[in-house]
Amino acid sequence: MSFVIPPPPTVSLPVTGSTERFPVGRIFCVGRNYAEHAREMGHDPDKEPPFFFMKSADTITSGPTIAYPPQTSDLHFEAELVVGLKSGGTMIKAEDALQHVYGYAVGLDMTRRDLQAQMKKMGRPWEVGKSFEQSAPCSPMVPAVKTGHPSRGAIWLDVDGKRRQNADLADMIWDVSHQIAFLSALFELKPGDLIMTGTPAGVGAVARGERMHAHIDGVGDLEITVV
Ligand code: MN
Repeated sequence: MSFVIPPPPTVSLPVTGSTERFPVGRIFCVGRNYAEHAREMGHDPDKEPPFFFMKSADTITSGPTIAYPPQTSDLHFEAELVVGLKSGGTMIKAEDALQHVYGYAVGLDMTRRDLQAQMKKMGRPWEVGKSFEQSAPCSPMVPAVKTGHPSRGAIWLDVDGKRRQNADLADMIWDVSHQIAFLSALFELKPGDLIMTGTPAGVGAVARGERMHAHIDGVGDLEITVV
């Protein structure tokens, strides 16, 4: 096959303990999946359930640096557990969902919070706040056959050594199984799809020169410096 212009490269993540890589399809992101974070953003988690938005696959980066993006003065970090699917389908039951998971990674849902707030106010889509270049730094993927399916354990983020986010995966409103079930009722999930499973409370701004360190027990670490 030949193309009229060079085809875009396949986006992929390294796999821990392997020379093979995980190819990335779509990136589904859940919003307001930790009650305390929903409240810090001004919402009532009992009245407004989580919801989904997307980032483009080419927002993925392994770092170790990201460039401060244009058109914002309020770049925020959101540490998140990332799920990689090895298979998919529609109408997947929660009790069957984890068999579709290849592995897990530590990710950052970087957000131009000022632009996102403007879009929210005007009832417009969020892409300008969420889906810009290098907005999804991600660690290597750990296969579930090695790490299991983490449903509890610490998730935290430090900026320059100071703890900013600190929670437990068990605090999620929708666990990974129910996120997969929910998404598969709306979309045909496919191998390579990623799910960013939401961030706990403590989100905040990061400046040029600062170093973020995100950690999830049993999954790994991600260290990214903003330049
Ligand atoms: Mn997020």
